[in-house]
Amino acid sequence: MSSTAAGQPTDSDQVALSQAPEREAAAQRARDLFVDAYGYEPDGVWSAPGRVNIIGEHVDYQDGLCLPMAISHRCFVAAARTPMNLLRLRSAQSEQVLEIDSHDLSPENVTGWPAYVAGVLWALRPFISGSTTQGMDLLIDGQVPLGSGLSSSAALECAAAEAMESLLSLGTTPLERVKAAISAETDFAGASTGGLDQSASVLSREGHALFLDCRDFSTRPVPWDLASQDLALLITDTRAEHSHVDGEYAARRADSETAARTLDVPTLRDLADLGEEQALARLDGIEDEVVRRRAHHIITEIHRVRRFDDLLAAGTVREHVDELGALLNASHDSLRDDYEVTVAPLDVAVDTARAAGAYGARMTGGGFGGSTIALIEADAAQQVAQAIASAFAEHGFTAAQFFLALPEEGAGQDR
Ligand code: ADP
Ligand code: MG
Repeated sequence: MSSTAAGQPTDSDQVALSQAPEREAAAQRARDLFVDAYGYEPDGVWSAPGRVNIIGEHVDYQDGLCLPMAISHRCFVAAARTPMNLLRLRSAQSEQVLEIDSHDLSPENVTGWPAYVAGVLWALRPFISGSTTQGMDLLIDGQVPLGSGLSSSAALECAAAEAMESLLSLGTTPLERVKAAISAETDFAGASTGGLDQSASVLSREGHALFLDCRDFSTRPVPWDLASQDLALLITDTRAEHSHVDGEYAARRADSETAARTLDVPTLRDLADLGEEQALARLDGIEDEVVRRRAHHIITEIHRVRRFDDLLAAGTVREHVDELGALLNASHDSLRDDYEVTVAPLDVAVDTARAAGAYGARMTGGGFGGSTIALIEADAAQQVAQAIASAFAEHGFTAAQFFLALPEEGAGQDR
């Protein structure tokens, strides 16, 4: 192995490609860590995956359509019910621990990562009968990289919700656990989330993507048989960060609301539902060129998700791989040109993946940094990752990190 002084990989390096450890072994590791931490055996181990959005970006706040999938990297929670009401939390990924009387939980008195877990118990309260004690010990062991846009936060919340459902015999539905996880993140931890992450983490099925209609939060699994077709998604975490992300997001939302108001529709989804051609023709009624382009992205993106979904319903991924790839490419180009949420590392990762043989590639997540995905032959992952790493070194970007993703099962009990 060789690398430059800056630690950037050079052509002769084998780029590290992170594949999640085998699930059974990972669950055992969480169990062992629990025993080390608390000195006794847990009642069980539960886990929930991170996610990646395949297509349908920056459409959620206009009631649009998204198509996320659960990835192989999961967060594991080994847990046990204890007498009384003491809640104890530890994580293999953090030094910070929490010990609190569960009756004292409030958004004001829990900070840091434990808020994502304590918040779930807090949000599940309506399902806990008054006489039930809420004491438990939890040990978290997450594989989803923190803060890479693969939603380690939702994986953490959803795994915790699964453990609490079992330990306290709550009788919640998966959708109720999704909502508790969303509430934990927004109302308790004070972070903002649209809900796509938690839906994907709980409701995804192995070998499937999750069609999510943001108008009513209805979902259904869609066949996305990458593994059986020897295809895969290469995720590239560009490690790029933009300093004004929040302001940029707010501006995009405001533009999309202006567009809807100008065209006198409740949301751009309502416009998209008229059919793509008719909806796009209506955009001529928007005088502001920037606002018009923002709306153009949202209308075309909603129709790309519809087309993607239709193709997946009509046959294997392999049969339609060229058109699916073209839709991914068109999504990225629209986010770059119409929506203007890409930055150079995202564009370089995407362009390089395409040149290295990917069927299609796009940024995923909110943009201004974060990750890209590329639809590739499974056995080409190393080569495509290598090409991106070299391109990043040439541009002097921070070294990227690579993950191989296949569509996995949502949250559940491991052992
Ligand atoms: P993302 O969800 O994209 O990874 P977020 O900023 O939404 O990024 O969530 C990351 C946060 O979630 C971390 O800063 C930490 O507070 C919490 N977190 C996620 N996984 C773990 C873990 N295994 N242990 C402790 N905290 C975690
Ligand atoms: Mg998150």
